[in-house]
Amino acid sequence: MRFAEVIGHSEIGARLRKGVQSNRVAHAQLFDGPEGSGALALALAYARYLHCNERTEADSCGQCSSCRSYDSLQHPDLHWAFPFFKKDGGEQATSQPFQAAWRLRMLAGPYFGQSEWLDVIGADKKQLFISVHEALEINRKLGLKSFQGGWKVLICWLPETMRVDTANKMLKLIEEPTDRTVMLFVSEHFDQLLATIRSRVQAIRVPRLSDAEAASGLIEKFNVDASLAAQWTQVVEGNVAAALRLQQSDGAGSDYGLFVRWMRACYGQDSPAMVELAEEVSKMGREAMKRFFVYSMHMVRQCIVGNYGAMELVRLTDEERGFAEKFAPFIHHDNVLGLQDLLEKAHRDIAGNVNGRLVFLDLSVQVNILLRKTA
Ligand SMILES: [Zn+2]
Repeated sequence: MRFAEVIGHSEIGARLRKGVQSNRVAHAQLFDGPEGSGALALALAYARYLHCNERTEADSCGQCSSCRSYDSLQHPDLHWAFPFFKKDGGEQATSQPFQAAWRLRMLAGPYFGQSEWLDVIGADKKQLFISVHEALEINRKLGLKSFQGGWKVLICWLPETMRVDTANKMLKLIEEPTDRTVMLFVSEHFDQLLATIRSRVQAIRVPRLSDAEAASGLIEKFNVDASLAAQWTQVVEGNVAAALRLQQSDGAGSDYGLFVRWMRACYGQDSPAMVELAEEVSKMGREAMKRFFVYSMHMVRQCIVGNYGAMELVRLTDEERGFAEKFAPFIHHDNVLGLQDLLEKAHRDIAGNVNGRLVFLDLSVQVNILLRKTA
């Protein structure tokens, strides 16, 4: 990942390079941006630039030995930290068993979110975190001499998953850094980051990409068809990770198709169909269910926007828009808040390990009642 490969954010890139050129490199920096904004991509491009032996004003060279080791993410002075779960039977939880999977995921492109990472490591029901032992391991790695005599760089993804005891172990590194050490934290939720960390890092705010930036990124870097890219970025509001998720799920098809069938079953009070859907949805797994509820909230919100006569503002694909135009009249001020509350509660229940089939069935019955309310 060179700066040229990062989607958008050319100003931030220029500022970061300027810092390196004028030898102003803060040893603890925080790239703070929402999922799919490219904060991780920026951090990686920056690390590569720091390590490059022949960097120019515009970018890392792409040719030197350091750049070549970055092509396979094998640079010996680049270290990674990320949330993971404790494998059964392990005495001390460190990221070691997941490092290879992490590198492969990063090589596929640094535009992904927690749900992709959960899929990669098969941690559907597990809580991910950065452990105390991991923090000790990071202390050890960064305490070693640099292999190539230059910077030692740590990229730490989602530091907000550190618990207090872990963060305390990291603080020493932040406050008393070893020689030529740079720690790059990449967070999605700045507000959830412990204040002790937050106050000691130099924060770089990475804003959400505009629809146009995200679309051209999808076209140029991921070979997405132009009309699809335009549709997807509308739906996901510039979140490249979410757009790629739509691509994975075979276009916008799966969640959309499911939502349409579900709403028909709920409105028509079709109990057998509701039971069947509950079965189907609960088999998708918790992450997919959570995603589906988020998608459903999005659809409900868009229907309300459409109801206020602003169909052109609605963030939907053509197919979804066709459905929303017919469905929107059933969503109104008397049931919209109730629907949102129900979907949020279902999302929370699934995250809290409540039985998926029961959650979905109960939700369907409640949605049926709300949909039949007339405005
Ligand atoms: Zn280079």
